[in-house]
Amino acid sequence: MTSTPTATSATDARQFVAREHGLLIGGAWHPASDGGRLESVDPATGRPLTTLAAATPVDVDRAVGAARQALESSPWPALSPLDRGQVLLAIAELVEEHADELALIESLDNGKPVSVARAVDVGTTVKLFRYFGGWPSKLEGSTIPVSPRGGLRVLNYTVHEPVGVVGAIVPWNFPMSMASWKLAPALATGNTVVLKPAEETSLSTLRLAELCAEAGLPPGVLNVVTGLGSVVGAHISAHPGIDKVAFTGSTEVGRLVARAATGNLKKVSLELGGKSPHIVLPDADPVQVARAAADGIFFNQGQTCTAGSRLYVHEHVYDDVLAAVVDHARSLVVGPGQDPATEMGPLVSARQLDTVTAYVESGVEQGAVVATGGGRPACLPGENQHGYFIQPTVLTATDHSMKVVREEIFGPVLVAMRWKDVDDLVSKANDSPYGLSAGLWTNDLTQAHRIAAAVKAGTVWVNCYNLTDPASPFGGYKESGWGREMGRQVLEEYTETKSVWVNLT
Ligand code: NDP
Repeated sequence: MTSTPTATSATDARQFVAREHGLLIGGAWHPASDGGRLESVDPATGRPLTTLAAATPVDVDRAVGAARQALESSPWPALSPLDRGQVLLAIAELVEEHADELALIESLDNGKPVSVARAVDVGTTVKLFRYFGGWPSKLEGSTIPVSPRGGLRVLNYTVHEPVGVVGAIVPWNFPMSMASWKLAPALATGNTVVLKPAEETSLSTLRLAELCAEAGLPPGVLNVVTGLGSVVGAHISAHPGIDKVAFTGSTEVGRLVARAATGNLKKVSLELGGKSPHIVLPDADPVQVARAAADGIFFNQGQTCTAGSRLYVHEHVYDDVLAAVVDHARSLVVGPGQDPATEMGPLVSARQLDTVTAYVESGVEQGAVVATGGGRPACLPGENQHGYFIQPTVLTATDHSMKVVREEIFGPVLVAMRWKDVDDLVSKANDSPYGLSAGLWTNDLTQAHRIAAAVKAGTVWVNCYNLTDPASPFGGYKESGWGREMGRQVLEEYTETKSVWVNLT
């Protein structure tokens, strides 16, 4: 796998980025109905990258109409399961073929290192379409041994049908792969989709939509409406023509989506924020753990819902682990994502930089100590002076009364705390409105299983961190969300189960 795009793929990516992008509705590209456009900015320089169509509610209505028509009269619902699966497999092939181009588009738009975009964003997208490409031919129902009144002889069986038109609203941290987390299972189960990417990072999703069409997805099955969340996302969430909304983003907006969906009681799945505890037991190897703890927070500039943002280290190894985490943070190369040496890129936007900076300031005001980082990196190249960079940051002397411990920062800021009693540790780990994930490091099997059972989180990693797979369910307890993405569990989110009773008497 290369992390530097070839000359051809780099040219393709830059030409794609520079285009005047439209809305994909019913298989054709359109400007917004009122001609409105949004600027997309390069986070490494703060300069405009390109413009996007800013969809209006009228455009969303058109996209929903196209998706409904495709559901009712396009070849999509009538395709045999194997043929439907084949379209998803063809999408996976095309994404893999265009991996370098897509990785560069993602890096230019989001800021992340090209190597991360290539391995994680593109790699995950390929795996998702491959995994879900196998599902259409395996969506079996059951025959159920029922006992009806009056001695009737009855055949009762279930079938799984598409839920209908799906509205998918996705964030900016892993733009194309978050879109694919929803698209792949929604398409595998025979639905049609209206997709709204994040306003900051729509480009890779627009290119993915072109590849979906090239792979044979019929017109209208996937519609993409770029624009503002308060307009496009809100209209999708409330739309009476949409049967299900699948959302990833902040808990605050997740609540708005859930409320808006009550109009037609559409189905809702929510993948929301996190403030994940990363726990180190006294027997863990400080050097190995420090590396994992640093990766757990600094990966993707800390803009990861599963970021291991609360580090709890047993007091016997706290000093050694913290010293190694700080060393690692200081060694990370921060720079533009297109420089092969870069390990951490800029944050996605000026707004996100302001948010993260304000959190560090609030931590200091409340008594936290900046062990490293906290400001802008020195020695950035001239054109990156106005980029949205921040140093990898570690805060110590923190406690659960502080905002930086309680709230999701969504940036490269780690808060570190000592512990000595395991019951107290577990109660601190669970002292959060979130419950997305947790990590723990130990060779003590009994403690590992006990803590894994006691932590209220949808995913627990033991002696590893941030592993996900299309075959494994992912989602949150508490305010981290509703429902599960991926795995066989997600199929229920995108299907209705019909129970059929046939009187054989
Ligand atoms: P948001 O929740 O605002 O955005 C996620 C998506 O929802 C975007 O497409 C956004 O559109 C859209 N949206 C915004 N407002 C509405 C609305 N009223 N109705 C429907 N959709 C809407 O996240 P942000 O981008 O503002 O990030 C803020 C915080 O959210 C982060 O700091 C982080 O804490 C959390 N977050 C969590 C993520 C996760 O993976 N769990 C991912 C991203 C963010 P638009 O792009 O126009 O804003």
